[in-house]
Amino acid sequence: MLQIEKRSVDHFEQVVVGTDHCTGLHAIIAVHSTALGPSLGGVRMHPYVDEAAAEFDVLRLAWAMTRKAAISGLPLGGGKAVVIGDHTKGKSRDMMLALGEMVERLDGAYIAAEDAGINCKDIDIVAERTAHRVGTSSASGDPGVSTAHGVRIGIERIARRALGGDSLDGLTVAIQGVGSVGMHLADMLHARGAKLIVADVNQSACDYARDKFDATVTEPAVIHQADCDVFAPCALGGGLNPQTIPNLNCKAIAGGANNQLLDEVTDAQALLKRGIVYAPDYLLNAGGLIRLYVLEILSETQAELDARLDAIGDSLDEVLERAEAEGETPAAIAQQIADERVAAAANKV
Ligand code: NAD
Repeated sequence: MLQIEKRSVDHFEQVVVGTDHCTGLHAIIAVHSTALGPSLGGVRMHPYVDEAAAEFDVLRLAWAMTRKAAISGLPLGGGKAVVIGDHTKGKSRDMMLALGEMVERLDGAYIAAEDAGINCKDIDIVAERTAHRVGTSSASGDPGVSTAHGVRIGIERIARRALGGDSLDGLTVAIQGVGSVGMHLADMLHARGAKLIVADVNQSACDYARDKFDATVTEPAVIHQADCDVFAPCALGGGLNPQTIPNLNCKAIAGGANNQLLDEVTDAQALLKRGIVYAPDYLLNAGGLIRLYVLEILSETQAELDARLDAIGDSLDEVLERAEAEGETPAAIAQQIADERVAAAANKV
């Protein structure tokens, strides 16, 4: 039977831990804020070493979802769920049903979606127990293509603002990780004349990018040092840190990965000092979230989705302009704008 324990955590509206001994479910759902609307965020399944590590991750991710929705102008809040376990062997239909029941008990404060370790087929099962979910297999399709769309728009704006070019033609972009987002991005940039350097721990992904998009392949350990106009992190978080930043050879950073800066303040300042333009990750990679909202919650068309994805460029321009005018980092300005929007909505309630 599903047991739910409520935790009180500062700055979070709700944090619940669900355990179901029959199915082996051990999950945490964190609702950071619903000031702007119901919280929407993926369910991640990962073999965390313990519950404390899982809680640390889910709180950080839920908070980031609040900022992502707010900076994107979406009427959504921030929430996230984590399931503790190995998705390759620990997942079962009954566990996903129990997860659905857990989501249902939050009465719509949290809307579940897929994330690492949880796919659309799992969400199909979750959907048998709750209507508060998006991203089933019959729904809006691969979010990676929309995330890459937003990143591509961001790179175009940076090219115009900071690199003195009106197009991507001839620009060199180094992509770290050619998975879903990175490969779609490679495709889009190649089609617009950009030269590509790629690295991935998956050799077949590199081979595909080389054969299809004429990409130069380099080693994952040195991709951040590639001589390029734009470095696009599209793999793991924390890749921009005191070890890597001094070795960057790019003019700008614009990618799809979450939590690219190991430390949001000091690493952003280090980039500013080096004169490297940084496009805040949660602003640029909001395309997947925007896709879910537009296609599934609003039931709008692809054309309406594309218009909203293009608007990521306007948000980026606003952040970069203000950052320049105020001598601040783009990361600090994006955070300020997002936090102000959430605070204004919270004060209206
Ligand atoms: P993915 O798993 O499809 O792709 C990640 C790729 O990175 C894989 O090909 C993997 O082999 C590679 N990789 C792993 N470690 C690496 C390393 N050390 N060096 C180089 N390559 C490495 O994931 P994805 O959906 O493309 O997401 C990529 C990033 O973007 C993640 O940080 C994710 O959280 C973020 N993101 C994704 C979406 C989306 O719509 N998919 C939306 C927002 C943010």
